[in-house]
Amino acid sequence: MAVGFAETQVALHLRMPTEPLVSAEVGPVRVDILVADITTLAVDAIVNAANTSLLGGGGVDGAIHRRAGPDLLKECETLGGCATGSAKITRGYKLPAKHVIHAVGPVWNGGKRGEEALLASCYRTALALAADNRLTSIAFPAISTGVYRFPADLAGRIAVGTVVSEISADPHGLERAVFCCFSDESAQHHIKALAELGLA
Ligand code: ADP
Repeated sequence: MAVGFAETQVALHLRMPTEPLVSAEVGPVRVDILVADITTLAVDAIVNAANTSLLGGGGVDGAIHRRAGPDLLKECETLGGCATGSAKITRGYKLPAKHVIHAVGPVWNGGKRGEEALLASCYRTALALAADNRLTSIAFPAISTGVYRFPADLAGRIAVGTVVSEISADPHGLERAVFCCFSDESAQHHIKALAELGLA
């Protein structure tokens, strides 16, 4: 018998908040796609979608600073900002995550100002910082897809494509990479991207 609408709703409702929708193995790394508030994840590092000042903002940035407490801002104030496409690491303070990697995604301006390369560079730099700090688990939000207006489907392909390609080339001790989406729609873009790579 086909599963009806009501049963599907119940199944969705019962799913644990941080249970992956899809998981894939990329060498020794488990890649998970899930829908969650990234500030709840107990991983070695969560990635922040920050702005160049690194002094806090709205969206996921605001949520991370709220949950981490004021000491996060104090450390960010010592960093001297961050260029678009790059990232800097801090401690996680009151967050369950040990570190925050503050990545600055590009503002979408139609796609002719290097936005795709800059977004890929955020993911690469975050992974390099994780490797430098010997971290084994990292969670990414969908950088630039909120206030910065990057098209969510293209951003999902760049996020998944860049991370899979980097960890395929060298996992650097990483064991788990999480795409922590904030909506089912965002998760579907990431799942589609993983499927296009033959991994889901
Ligand atoms: P940007 O300025 O880089 O676009 P935003 O914070 O506005 O950054 O949005 C980036 C993505 O983060 C969006 O997909 C948004 O829905 C998502 N997001 C917002 N809050 C959270 C959160 N608490 N956990 C995970 N993702 C979040």
